[in-house]
Amino acid sequence: MLRMLKQIIRVGSLSETLAPSDQVEQLGEKLRESVRKRFAGSLTIRAVDAGSCNGCELEIHATNNAYYDIERFGVHFTASPRFADMLLVTGPVSINMRRALEMTYEAMPEPRLVVAMGDCAIDCGVFGRDNYAIAGAVRDIIPVDVQIHGCPPTPSDIIQGILAAVESR
Ligand code: SF4
Repeated sequence: MLRMLKQIIRVGSLSETLAPSDQVEQLGEKLRESVRKRFAGSLTIRAVDAGSCNGCELEIHATNNAYYDIERFGVHFTASPRFADMLLVTGPVSINMRRALEMTYEAMPEPRLVVAMGDCAIDCGVFGRDNYAIAGAVRDIIPVDVQIHGCPPTPSDIIQGILAAVESR
């Protein structure tokens, strides 16, 4: 708790400067082209909150808003891991969510991509590795292909990270 308060004081208010739309468009066009080549035009993502503060989820939601509208680049979110090409994980992995995360990963068809999103997913972030409720970072539990840094990452960072993961295949 104290660690989180210190981080809030240190970082202050973080609002993304609205990127010029052509920057988002260029990134999106690259993503659309990569998804077309490697996933026949449609990439499906299952997002799992393994123990986050919900800040990362708000940014994921923003990728679906009217400004970013990630669906127009061929990227869709699903509730079922059975249809998912990519697993997008936020937060440190809490002990309570560990098995659920493993089961979600196991339920996905091969080849499956895993993206750890946010500093907590990468190294437990402000929650800390010594926290009694934390099982570890995402890579301690399942294999990770790409990491997206930030607390939280912006929608542009998320789109860039998804693009990097798609291009890694
Ligand atoms: S990286 Fe930041 S926004 Fe994301 S879950 Fe951790 S504390 Fe919350």
